[in-house]
Amino acid sequence: MLKVRVFTLYPEIFPGPLGIGIFKKALKKKIWSLKVINIREQASDKHKTVDDKPFGGGSGMVLKPDVIAKSLDKYVLGKKEKTIYLSSKGKMFDQRMAKSLSKKKIINFICGHFEGIDQRVLETRNIEEVSIGDYILSGGETASLVLMDSILRLVPGVLGNKRSLEEESFENGLLEYPHYTKPQKWEKKNVPPVLLSGDHAKIKDWRLSQSRVITRRQRPDLWKKYKKK
Ligand code: SAH
Repeated sequence: MLKVRVFTLYPEIFPGPLGIGIFKKALKKKIWSLKVINIREQASDKHKTVDDKPFGGGSGMVLKPDVIAKSLDKYVLGKKEKTIYLSSKGKMFDQRMAKSLSKKKIINFICGHFEGIDQRVLETRNIEEVSIGDYILSGGETASLVLMDSILRLVPGVLGNKRSLEEESFENGLLEYPHYTKPQKWEKKNVPPVLLSGDHAKIKDWRLSQSRVITRRQRPDLWKKYKKK
């Protein structure tokens, strides 16, 4: 069972896309669990203040370390638990990280807002910063959902078909080959004949060559790494 906790100012965003299909089924089967914690509950003044102006000046507001820490300390049992702050200055998330996180027992996600959270919480609570890409979101919630989606589908029992995982993009350092289904002829376009040949070795070869062409064209960075292997 993978226990997931999310610390957020907007609990109503969850479970969102994780409340449907395979994720919903897996939740019912207790393959994973989701606890959503409203950070604001730990604000101590009557206005329930969670943010303040940045020291050193500048625009925007910063989430207060005392409020975040109080919220974390109520649930998170020390450094043994994995705690991730979704952050534009974090380590870049990828399939390898998803795989490694899918083996954890507990993952805590902290969703930032405004300019982000006070640096000292990250240091004192052993929090890892993870980014989903080189662009700025207005909050960490959508990023946390991206991580959860890709991590959860790797947890045994969540996805029905194990083989479909093995053949996906990034598994062999290449992007995936194109897919086709019925009708065989559609808008004057035919399905590539090799896929109708029944020759599995030939089909495998064709798919690999397509993967190579696509990776080379779309992702020169991945192509370079693949060629080096
Ligand atoms: N001032 C920051 C941006 C803050 S955006 C900067 O210039 O880098 C507000 C919140 O959205 C952040 O605290 C973080 O939790 C989340 N966020 C924004 N971009 C993100 C990204 N690429 N990946 C993960 N989380 C992100």
